[in-house]
Formats: sequence, structure tokens, C-alpha cells
Amino acid sequence: MSGDETEQRRLLCSMSLGYTAYHVWAAQARRERKYNIARLLEASSNVKRVRAERAFRALGEVGNTATNIGRALAGLEPATVATGPVTGTGTLSRELMSRAAAALAEGRDLLAEELGDLYVCGSCGELMEGDPPAVCPACGTVREGFLSFRAAEGMGILGPQSIVKKLEQTPATLRALVSGLDDELLAYPVGGRSLKELVGHLTDMDVVFRERAWLILETDNPRLPSAHPPTIARAAAYRTQPMADLLDAFQTSRQQTLGLLRGLTMAAWHRTGYHLYFGTIPLTHQGNWVVEHERRHLVEMAQIRNDLLTQRHEERPIVLPHNLVPEVLEGE
Ligand SMILES: [Zn+2]
Repeated sequence: MSGDETEQRRLLCSMSLGYTAYHVWAAQARRERKYNIARLLEASSNVKRVRAERAFRALGEVGNTATNIGRALAGLEPATVATGPVTGTGTLSRELMSRAAAALAEGRDLLAEELGDLYVCGSCGELMEGDPPAVCPACGTVREGFLSFRAAEGMGILGPQSIVKKLEQTPATLRALVSGLDDELLAYPVGGRSLKELVGHLTDMDVVFRERAWLILETDNPRLPSAHPPTIARAAAYRTQPMADLLDAFQTSRQQTLGLLRGLTMAAWHRTGYHLYFGTIPLTHQGNWVVEHERRHLVEMAQIRNDLLTQRHEERPIVLPHNLVPEVLEGE
């Protein structure tokens, strides 16, 4: 192996491991509702991915697809080498991680003003914070080739039509998820939560979202309530309520929310509010937030339903709309 090849192999190992570490840590941060720290970790993960891919190509491991399938079948077996540290290796990276550590020491996420928009050069993996330069300072790639990890897109990038469509689907999905289960099963906690309290929790969150949306639409750049939305722990009281009432409450709230959102212009969807953690964000950000939150809980409910039915030795798995299958399980 030449010295250059050894170095490329070291990079491939180091960057691949770093990519995995940061990616999984980002998913965990989302579960803990540390969305800005999750954004930092996801950007860091992409730094490593871009660099791993560069090293992989430099080693001549990428041919045309027919060749690559041949390699795949043959069982690609790159030589592994000692890597040294695989994370926290860059200067900016270390500075950003130190900011995250300071925030976590206070038991919180990074605030909006403590972490700017992040960009990763798609060619070389250079990490940048704040307004991106016209070209990558490391390799000269134009700004259009950067991957963005912006606060405004931190909750997803669905547009108004997709947001409204997904919000419209939820009542029917909820009815399907609870159909054929008796009251005892609906109140039965699996992993600490029952289907009843999850339906009640989704209604609570819909109300929070509608209030924020109303503020954004009716006032100029309002400060959005920074109090944490109602947590699932407070929803235990819903266990004693009839499911029909819980579903009705959700449906009523959702109709009001959709009534507020339907027919809004693009300009209205781009109106902004200020949130202590998310920063200055458009209504689309909050739409993505509620959709993502709902998706996570609908998947959880499908799992609970499956567990309840399996315990009763019945084979009645429910088929969810395929677009509900999560890529990542987001926190709330
Ligand atoms: Zn670059």
C-alpha cells in the first residue's frame, strides 16, 4: 500500500465510524427534544459522510454500476487500519460541541442565538456556520453545492400542501388505529402509555400548534410561547375517558386548525414568529413540527396496537398509509 492509499484507508475508516456515531447521536438528541444540538450532530455526521465518500472514491472502489454490483456480490472487504479519534477533530466542530456541552450542563438545548445556520460543503465536507460564503473556503465549491442545516428547516421541509394533507389524514388514521379494541385495551399502558392518552396528547399538541399559528398569522413576528407544550406525562388523565369522546375532541380541534390553514397564501405561510429555541421561524416550520410530532406518535400507536393484539394471540395487524413509515423517530 502506498502512503497515500494508507491515508485514504485511514480516512475511510475514521469518517465512516464518525458518520455513524454522529448520526445516531443526532437521532438520540431529537428524542430528547434537543433540536439544535440534533442539527449540529446531523451536520457533523454529513461532514464525515462526504469525506468518507471522497476517500472511498479515491481508493478506486467506485466503478460503473455493473462493476459495483459485482463488487457487492463478491463481498467488498476493505482493509481496515487504526484510525485515531473519529469525532471532535475539527476546530469549529470542537467549538460548536463545547457550546452544546455548556447548554446541556444547564439541562437545555442550544438556544436559537447560540447556534447559527450550518452548512456542509457537499464536495469536501467543510463545516460552516452563519451566512454561507459564495464558495467553500477549503475547495472552492459554489454555495449551491452546500448541504444546509438551517434552523428554519430543522423540523422538516414539507410545503403547505403536504402539511395540510397530512394533518387531514390523521383523524381517519387514529380511528383505524383504535378500531376493534375494547375500552380496557385502549386504556392499557404499553411501555407506560395507552392509546387513549396518546390520542389526548395529540389533541393537546394540536391546540398548541393552532395557538402558535394564530399568533404568527395575526400579529407581527410574535414571540411564540416558549413554555414547553403539554407533555405526554400530563395525558394520563385521558385513560378514564371514553375513546369516542377523545376522538371527537381531536376531530373538532383538527377541523379548527385546518379551518385556519386552508386557503392561506404562500406569503401567509412564510410569516414568522420568534421562538427561543427555534429562532425566527416561518409558519411552515411549525407545520412541519406538528406533522413530525404526530408521525412519531402514530407509529408508536401502531406498535402499541400490534403489541396488544399479539398479546391476545390475534393476527390483525393494521396497514398504515405508507408515508407514515418513519425514517427517523423524532422527539416532541
Ligand atoms: Zn469544499
